[in-house]
Amino acid sequence: MVTAVYVCSICQFAYKTKSLAQQCEQFCKKYHSCNIEITRKSVGEVKV
Ligand SMILES: [Zn+2]
Repeated sequence: MVTAVYVCSICQFAYKTKSLAQQCEQFCKKYHSCNIEITRKSVGEVKV
């Protein structure tokens, strides 16, 4: 079974929904840091 996750291309945090990943990306782009309110909803960092 494949579980799809959406990853912020900037901080590499993974999210269950595309909208959360997009929120994270926008915040990362704007502030060059992560929003704890968003990253707490992350399902984890993607191990490359
Ligand atoms: Zn991010």
